[in-house]
Amino acid sequence: MSNIVAIVGRPNVGKSTLFNRLIQRREAIVDAVSGVTRDRHYGKTDWNGREFSLIDTGGYVVGSDDIFEQEIDKQVELAIDEADAILFVVDVETGVTGMDEDVAQLLRQTDKPVLVAVNKVDNGQREADAVEFYSLGLGEYYSISGINGSGTGELLDALVEVLPEKEEVEDVELPRFAVVGRPNAGKSSFINALIGEDRYIVTDIAGTTRDSNDTRYNRFGFEFNLVDTAGIRRKAKVKEDLEFYSVMRSVRAIEHSDVCLLLIDATRGFEGQDQNIFWLAERNRKGIVILVNKWDLVEKDTGTVKEFEKSIRKIIEPFTDVPVIFISALTKQRIFKAIETAVEVYQNRSKRISTSKLNEVMLPIIEQTPPPANKGKYIKIKFCTQLPTPMPQFAFFANLPQYIKDPYRRFVENKLREHFGFHGVPIDVFFRKK
Ligand code: GDP
Ligand code: GDP
Repeated sequence: MSNIVAIVGRPNVGKSTLFNRLIQRREAIVDAVSGVTRDRHYGKTDWNGREFSLIDTGGYVVGSDDIFEQEIDKQVELAIDEADAILFVVDVETGVTGMDEDVAQLLRQTDKPVLVAVNKVDNGQREADAVEFYSLGLGEYYSISGINGSGTGELLDALVEVLPEKEEVEDVELPRFAVVGRPNAGKSSFINALIGEDRYIVTDIAGTTRDSNDTRYNRFGFEFNLVDTAGIRRKAKVKEDLEFYSVMRSVRAIEHSDVCLLLIDATRGFEGQDQNIFWLAERNRKGIVILVNKWDLVEKDTGTVKEFEKSIRKIIEPFTDVPVIFISALTKQRIFKAIETAVEVYQNRSKRISTSKLNEVMLPIIEQTPPPANKGKYIKIKFCTQLPTPMPQFAFFANLPQYIKDPYRRFVENKLREHFGFHGVPIDVFFRKK
């Protein structure tokens, strides 16, 4: 479980430049397969062996040049609530502004670690100008240049130093299901429908860990932890239907889960905001179940379900092996099915295929359809094994792994899915030198 670090600050100070520099090594900004730009403001990285997630809060504001001050304050408050540490970026070119002072005032009230990054210190001369940021009352600052990278190493050293050590989650045995989706998708209603009566809540362990929103359920014959992003601890002050809020909330819930129940509103379809949450879960290698909620409101004829499902699968290509269930939190239609499916996906994600079985099934398939020769060289795959990771990952050992292209990787992935059943679970296939 990694920590979450939020980058805050007013527009144009260089938040996204810094974000890109810190993430660059690890994340493809534009997905080459579908050509779709997935959310560019969230990514994982590591420094000195400490992994953390980074959120560029500024990235979620449209037309950020004339952003209202109030809006920034809300983002900062949410960052304080949801993140484990905060990077406050300011700009040496403009010096301290009134807006910086407002943000600093909010940040002085939190116990969470706050690091001030004075950006655009591209040369030694500007170093001297940075001194004025002491006046923000947030202590030591770090002079950096997002553009040329200077100072960012020191900043990261300090950052990983202050990140809280995450204690491992209790109840590791129990499946952890996160109910995610944009505002008004019906998350609270779904959870309420699920709970029915309070007696199904085994323990309310909220409060045992600082930010835990977990509740343990024993329902329909299954015991599981529900990681909640709505309802139970909904904060009145943040109700706006803004993508930023739902993504920020989702990040934590998704990272703390095994399987994500992604609720979408059937009357609105599978929109950009839903897709961003889907890719967040996929990128974190979590199990996914798509729940098309409010199905009671949809005019149906014989083809409706098929068409709806098809339109979703088209969007989530190439990861289409995902359960899609049509539910109504209002009438409780298929909510049992939703949990049952989540349990199945959980089991798929924890599945272990023995090496002998894997080779017995996969080697003949590979022999029949080997990777295409490259520059006249034949590629041979001799052996494969599942890696001992929490999510399904497979290594295939070859003489020339570097010549195996993505289409073949997908072919192998599809065969694994076909033969072993990984419905709802992202899997990784690696080709390695034997
Ligand atoms: P954001 O609105 O806070 O995300 O800011 P951006 O990352 O979009 O940067 C705003 C502007 O500042 C852009 O024109 C960047 O090229 C510029 N900028 C960002 N970092 C630096 C830096 O380290 N030095 C200089 N000179 N310019 C920078
Ligand atoms: P959340 O923001 O995702 O927690 O969404 P809520 O649970 O607060 O639901 C938003 C609105 O949608 C409320 O007015 C609910 O009554 C309504 N709603 C939720 N689920 C359903 C459903 O299955 N059918 C219908 N007709 N309305 C629903």
